[in-house]
Amino acid sequence: MTNFRVHPTAEVSDQANIGDGASIWHQAQVRERANVGPGSIIGKGVYIGADVSLGANCKVQNYSCVYEGNTLEDGVFVGPEVVFTNDRYPRAINPDGTIKAASDWELEGTLVRYGAAVGSRSVILPGLTIGRWALVAAGSVVTRDVPDHAIVAGNPARQRGWVCVCAHPLDESLACPECGRRYERAGEGLSTAS
Ligand SMILES: [Zn+2]
Repeated sequence: MTNFRVHPTAEVSDQANIGDGASIWHQAQVRERANVGPGSIIGKGVYIGADVSLGANCKVQNYSCVYEGNTLEDGVFVGPEVVFTNDRYPRAINPDGTIKAASDWELEGTLVRYGAAVGSRSVILPGLTIGRWALVAAGSVVTRDVPDHAIVAGNPARQRGWVCVCAHPLDESLACPECGRRYERAGEGLSTAS
């Protein structure tokens, strides 16, 4: 038996899977077959689409929308009013004017990796990967992949530097002035220096 908290005004599908210790706050909606990992916190008015998967210890702040097709690994932070989209070619209608059915469009989602954070009011396009511990600044429109430990900002979001696991920006030697951790280049991103 799992032990989690759902506010009486939230709507959680019987077919959703909610982990131990999770909290789902006022007026949030969690759709069928969605997974909310243990310890995760779903804020007021949040929408978690069908089949969306959130790992353990995620925080999704008020009024964010994680639409069908998107995946958040463990420990992901999502600020207020963030939108994770899922349709790269959006239209309500077909070229002949008839309304599109579910089968008329191709679902695409983004993967947000372990420990990453997405600032408030950001918009995330589909089909991307936001790397481990990456930081998306508030109000960004993310249109391409974000490497591990990168900071991106703006519309379209561009890389502005690198960020520590403690969320402080790194200096030019890839060290954190705040906590002293050191990093080195690894593929497109960074990893902890050995
Ligand atoms: Zn640090």
